[in-house]
Amino acid sequence: NNEEAAAKAAAVNFDSEAPTIFDKIINKEIPASIVYEDEKVLAFRDINPQAPVHVLVIPKLRDGLTELGKADSRHAEILGQLLYAAKTVAEKEGIVDGFRVVINNGPGACQSVYHLHLHVLGGRQMSWPPV
Ligand code: AMP
Repeated sequence: NNEEAAAKAAAVNFDSEAPTIFDKIINKEIPASIVYEDEKVLAFRDINPQAPVHVLVIPKLRDGLTELGKADSRHAEILGQLLYAAKTVAEKEGIVDGFRVVINNGPGACQSVYHLHLHVLGGRQMSWPPV
């Protein structure tokens, strides 16, 4: 449930320099179902999907972007590239007529992996507001 998820996320004792599970995916040390890749961006299916389509879009180089709240002006270009990649993923997955892009930022939003990622969700009716 949501309370458990929030507690779990708050308990994540993160060191902003520490690698995350996403580094292992980028380095192909653990498998992932990759749906899109270019020089800067990698997109792969979420291991615990919350919708029929649930893809994570990440920068290959974290460069301090543990979370969106840590972004500064040098990150503006990659942030645009990530959002554009999210649109490309939505097209490839056939959900461009109804999809949602989510960024969970920090413990208060249940962020659990401290390497910036966009969730691209779709393939079902999305409700509003998100809980
Ligand atoms: P967040 O809670 O916003 O930090 O999202 C992290 C997401 O990463 C969750 O939706 C997890 O299901 C997903 N995740 C964690 N480990 C993996 C993995 N090895 N492969 C794919 N997705 C993962």
